[in-house]
Amino acid sequence: MLVVDCHLLNYTCVVREELTLKCFAVSNYEILRSIDKMTDTRKKAVVLLSGGLDSATVVAIASEMGFDIHALSFDYGQRHAIEHEAARRVAKSAGVVEHVFQKIDLRSFGGSALTANIDVPKSVDASHISPGIPITYVPARNTIFLSFALAYAEVIGSRDIFIGVNAVDYSGYPDCRPDFIAAFQKLAQLATKAGVDGGTCSILAPLIHMSKGEIIREGLRLGVDYSLTHSCYDPAPEGKACEKCDSCLLRAKGFEQAGIADPIL
Ligand SMILES: [Zn+2]
Repeated sequence: MLVVDCHLLNYTCVVREELTLKCFAVSNYEILRSIDKMTDTRKKAVVLLSGGLDSATVVAIASEMGFDIHALSFDYGQRHAIEHEAARRVAKSAGVVEHVFQKIDLRSFGGSALTANIDVPKSVDASHISPGIPITYVPARNTIFLSFALAYAEVIGSRDIFIGVNAVDYSGYPDCRPDFIAAFQKLAQLATKAGVDGGTCSILAPLIHMSKGEIIREGLRLGVDYSLTHSCYDPAPEGKACEKCDSCLLRAKGFEQAGIADPIL
């Protein structure tokens, strides 16, 4: 396996075939572009889009890398539909080629504060977020989402799936960790016709080792309009963020790190 390690850079992605690029940033998109010239396959990307600030940033990163964006969002029975509107706003703003809204009902299982009648935990700031896997964890959500993305990618002839998981400023979800992303990429290789035919599907997680502040700064450089995004797990009926759930607190920490005001507050 060829490993390209760029220490000055922030992104870690798992990329196709026997190449793993560790820690590459925007300035090293040229590396990926040169790889693409060799393989001539990097055209369409499926990007998981929740409407939060992470996925909005990932859409911008994939666009900068030269991909045509096929955004994939889910109505999975989450406790509010406000993030659906945010996903549509972000997709429109980014000029995606296609935006698929997939309906699946994880509420039939429940088991999470986001898909069952369980209170969303609140705290005073990010440093007070309880350790461990919180009740807002939706069982196997990213496995389910990536499985749909894999099917979508295979149908449209894409070999690149982007997901905005983050393992630095995050809620401790097990399916946001680098090992999970690497394992899913192996699964993708075994599970698809493209894999059997000798192709590969890459799971790219460019934010995985970035802080929230770094993510926001990168998004601003790329022109992301964060006023279009939504992060709160438990918003008021009219959409106002609660400012006390884990997601709100991590978002607040990010804007504080970035040194700018959150445009949605
Ligand atoms: Zn909130």
